[in-house]
Amino acid sequence: MSKRTFLQPLCVGGESAVTRFLLVFLLFAPVSAQELTVIRAGRLIDVEKGDVLHDKVIYVRGDKIEKIASPRASEIPAGARVIDLSKYTVLPGLIDCHTHLVDLPQSSGPGAPLEQSPAQMAFNGARNAKKTLMAGFTTVRDVGTYRAFVDIALRDAINDGTVLGPRMAAAGAYITVSSGGGDITGLSPDIVLPPDLRAGVANSATEVRQRVREILHRGADFIKIIATGAVLTRGTRPGVSEFSEEEIRAAVEEAAKYGARVTAHAHGADGIKNAIRAGVQSIEHGSLIDDEGLRLMKERGTFLVADIYNGDYIAENYKRLGYPDEFIRKNEETTEAQRAGFRKAVAAGVKIAYGTDAAVYPHGDNARQLPYMVKYGMTPMGAIQSATINAARNIGWEDRVGSIAPGKFADIIAVEGDALSDLSRFMNVAFIMKAGQIVKTPEK
Ligand SMILES: [Zn+2]
Repeated sequence: MSKRTFLQPLCVGGESAVTRFLLVFLLFAPVSAQELTVIRAGRLIDVEKGDVLHDKVIYVRGDKIEKIASPRASEIPAGARVIDLSKYTVLPGLIDCHTHLVDLPQSSGPGAPLEQSPAQMAFNGARNAKKTLMAGFTTVRDVGTYRAFVDIALRDAINDGTVLGPRMAAAGAYITVSSGGGDITGLSPDIVLPPDLRAGVANSATEVRQRVREILHRGADFIKIIATGAVLTRGTRPGVSEFSEEEIRAAVEEAAKYGARVTAHAHGADGIKNAIRAGVQSIEHGSLIDDEGLRLMKERGTFLVADIYNGDYIAENYKRLGYPDEFIRKNEETTEAQRAGFRKAVAAGVKIAYGTDAAVYPHGDNARQLPYMVKYGMTPMGAIQSATINAARNIGWEDRVGSIAPGKFADIIAVEGDALSDLSRFMNVAFIMKAGQIVKTPEK
């Protein structure tokens, strides 16, 4: 006997014509400002207070959350669409603060980023954006692309409804020293790269300011600066500082004129401290952080965005996939050190925002890191807060996303049963709504 569905998820084939019509209608019908949807939540995670509430209803009108109430059937207006998630844990859409939706990592062929046209990268980005949204991640901070500004085109295509994906904060390009962690390296020295692959290359404070302006003028939401060498960039060393504190401060000051934040890729202890002292919003990776760095982060309220899952993915897969031994070695040198530093950071009360470096491992597996956050010291609630309200604060979007609260976007997901009992359950998010539009519903 075939199972009945009231709506099947996008990824399941064989829908009936009627179901397909209904799904397409729900996905693409304009959301009326008057349309009311009422969601019955068996468990509702209040990420601001760190509480689980029981038996609540969420009113969604148009693209926003109107109110949260206790269920009294008489209160639900006739004609409202009712979604029954009474057997689910309901929470705000997840946020990943470190993705690369349009990027391919540098692979065994040093020219890999050169093998794709901007158009191909844009289509890859559309595919990756859909996978990310269908994993329950309704917002990402996308921290850069080798081919500049393709991410901004993707963000705009998502915002105008052309592409299905998470809302994006986009970096536009990497600010990097020439031949540094954010440059295309490993090529024959006589190869001259096209300008859109070097849009963020800067070698002085003056050049950093110039690049920051150019990137923000082209529509970036924030600036990503590569403060140290990288694991997956040939020739560079994660422990080596590539920009000085003064050069990073130039980026922070110039971005601040535009109201934009700066986040720093930093593995080495000195590079991390340079970036914190320069006033960055967050440290990406933070692999080799020392006690002084932890103290500075705590003092200044700098967020740590540590991708503590993907070291396992690299160790298990990159050799087989043909990546150079150098990448494998640098991954070994940073993975466990990063996890030890993360554990200390959690214990010290450093602010943590969830970020996974999706692109290094397959897009759409963004939730795989959640159990790692618990394994390395966080409570399950703390891990969920890092991927919701704290991530929103890190981006500066806490006024619109990150919690289920009146006036915020109706970005709502649900996981069957008691989701906090085992965060690996987040690999199978059953219900996803973005801005009031349902993109996935449970199978019945
Ligand atoms: Zn990254």
